[in-house]
Amino acid sequence: MYRLQHTDVKYLPGVGPKRAEVLGRELNIRTFADLLYHFPFRYIDRSTIYHISDIKGDDLPLMQLRGRFITFTTAGEGARRRLQALFSDGTGTIEVVWFNRIKPIQESLHTGVEYLLLGKPSVFGHHYSIAHPEVDPYKEETAPTGLQGVYSLTEGLTRRGITTRVMQKLIANLLATPLVAGVSDPLPPQLRAERGLMPLNEALRHIHQPTDLQQLQRAQFRLKYEELFMLELHILKNVKRQGEPQPGFRFSRVGNYFNNFYHNVLQFPLTEAQKRVIREIHRDMGSGRQMNRLLQGDVGSGKTIVAFMTALIALDNGYQACIMAPTEILATQHMDTISQLAQRIGVNVALLTGSTRKRERDRIHAGLMDGTIQILIGTHALIEDTVQLRNLGLAIIDEQHRFGVAQRAKLWRKNTTPPHVLVMTATPIPRTLAMTVYGDLDVSVIDELPPGRKPVLTLMRYEKHREQVYRFVGDELRQGRQAYIVYPLIEENEKLDLQALEQGVEVIRETFPHYRVAWVHGRMKPAEKEHQMELFVNHEAHILVATTVIEVGVNVPNASVMIIENAERFGLSQLHQLRGRVGRGADKSYCILMTKLQLSRDTRHRLEVMTQTTDGFVVAEEDMKLRGPGDMEGTMQSGIAFDLKLSNLARDGQIVSLARDDAERLLHADPQLQAAQHRALSQRVEALYGHKIDWSAIS
Ligand code: ADP
Ligand code: MG
Repeated sequence: MYRLQHTDVKYLPGVGPKRAEVLGRELNIRTFADLLYHFPFRYIDRSTIYHISDIKGDDLPLMQLRGRFITFTTAGEGARRRLQALFSDGTGTIEVVWFNRIKPIQESLHTGVEYLLLGKPSVFGHHYSIAHPEVDPYKEETAPTGLQGVYSLTEGLTRRGITTRVMQKLIANLLATPLVAGVSDPLPPQLRAERGLMPLNEALRHIHQPTDLQQLQRAQFRLKYEELFMLELHILKNVKRQGEPQPGFRFSRVGNYFNNFYHNVLQFPLTEAQKRVIREIHRDMGSGRQMNRLLQGDVGSGKTIVAFMTALIALDNGYQACIMAPTEILATQHMDTISQLAQRIGVNVALLTGSTRKRERDRIHAGLMDGTIQILIGTHALIEDTVQLRNLGLAIIDEQHRFGVAQRAKLWRKNTTPPHVLVMTATPIPRTLAMTVYGDLDVSVIDELPPGRKPVLTLMRYEKHREQVYRFVGDELRQGRQAYIVYPLIEENEKLDLQALEQGVEVIRETFPHYRVAWVHGRMKPAEKEHQMELFVNHEAHILVATTVIEVGVNVPNASVMIIENAERFGLSQLHQLRGRVGRGADKSYCILMTKLQLSRDTRHRLEVMTQTTDGFVVAEEDMKLRGPGDMEGTMQSGIAFDLKLSNLARDGQIVSLARDDAERLLHADPQLQAAQHRALSQRVEALYGHKIDWSAIS
């Protein structure tokens, strides 16, 4: 591998300095190894040659046909000019068309010569037609066989003549060098034998040029396994807390605050999931080790109560607790909910945000120092501020769906004994991903909603349905319900988006003259925003027109409808967050996704997922499949950088756990990978991750 990594790609036959420059610029391919690890993203089956008479149905795959052209004709004028040919293989005929490069194509093709065609037939009126196929004279000796890799290319590459075909040729040249055949396998032979893994050199060959599907799958498995194994080794070795666990406060008591609240104040029975999670947290905080726990629970699953009861355990043991929220609105809402509950058991709570006045701030600082304030609620400013507490025992971070701030918890480690940390998130990160990115966080999941929640009926509607949709909103309003209308707002065309929002407000006011309409967007002054929100929360306004600012935490159980305008412009997890604002009280709630008629396949699929499920975990899994985990919201923010070429954390969950188990076992036997048979492994991990950020600094 070393030589492959250090040989400039320009030395490969067929490349040279010019092409090397383009490959480097466009695909970041600079060495033999880079090219070798540029894997096909799909494969064409070249083992079968189809008969024209067998072509049936629509949505057909790429097919190979072998035969002769019978006629060529040009048709159409100007931009619609095209070259049409009739192609026959003895079993039938099919039309072939070209819309550009007509002249050179016509000159290079001849009737009477036998050709191999590769193309995708589509139905055109009553016949099949293939546009712009790949055409080669057919020769038995050189006819392609097996599966052929297709590589991702950029326009810049094709413009410089590096086409799929050239790419295949370059890869073939590379595979023919002795460097590839002689590449050493970093995986220990014992592991390879145990897991039945193909040797690395074979896997590299078969992933580019598989003879059949089975070989391809074995090659993919081997390379995915290796990729995930290296990642897990890196995480477990460098990221996971080393050696002795961090000592922490021992909160073994459950005392008056907790019990009094549980038996006398709590109005509803906890769900089984809430109980289980509280037990997990309690056990953790009583262990003498510092708790570092991620609490996942879908929107509305009741994390706030869990947070509050966790704080009471800290109080019962004589410590203070703080709760941090990502926005001022959310912090204020937590304050409203929690102070009401706290009051009844004589617990003193304070709210500290950016807009807290100086005098109040001074009062709070004093109360925190003398211990009269037991629970402090605020924004992230808490952590950066010079806030001093007498004896902070627990920090709860409510990040809703933004889990980027977890690392800040480390700041608390300034204390001699760090407080326990509980991070709450509504982003249901699939378990495989959570395990992988949060190497050292324990994870608790509330996987059950409180009883009585009605799944929100989600529908897709188009512009032509608008009147009908508004009529429906009117019906709900007449029944005393409230409605959200959400507009997208993205930075790039913020101005246009704001205009759309303002126009939306106008239209809504005209359509519903008897109802009051509040509106908010992120660019409003905080005071105005607050005011508009309050109108809606207090039911003085019946309709709230808003951008995604409402995505975080607003709780209006009386709202039963949400209309999302231009729903195609929202990501899945965002849609799910938004939808979580309804279905919190009304007998029946609705989320209506307004979209344009023409949607790309991925977009339509995304919206259909919304109409089919209200389960946040399913939504998150789908989101990962559609976008790939590297792109997952928050993953970037969480500072975790890894680039998986082949594996998909959502789809390859089984390989992830296999690789993780094996990595754990190996590190148990050889924690520093010092054994001679692990040297190649250690070098490979270093080469892959050595230059990346120091993970151990994050958690
Ligand atoms: P989230 O997990 O989104 O933060 P919240 O904690 O805001 O959810 O809870 C949503 C609503 O559900 C709140 O009004 C809360 O009082 C209520 N709730 C929480 N737990 C239960 C329960 N076990 N039974 C009934 N209602 C509950
Ligand atoms: Mg919440």
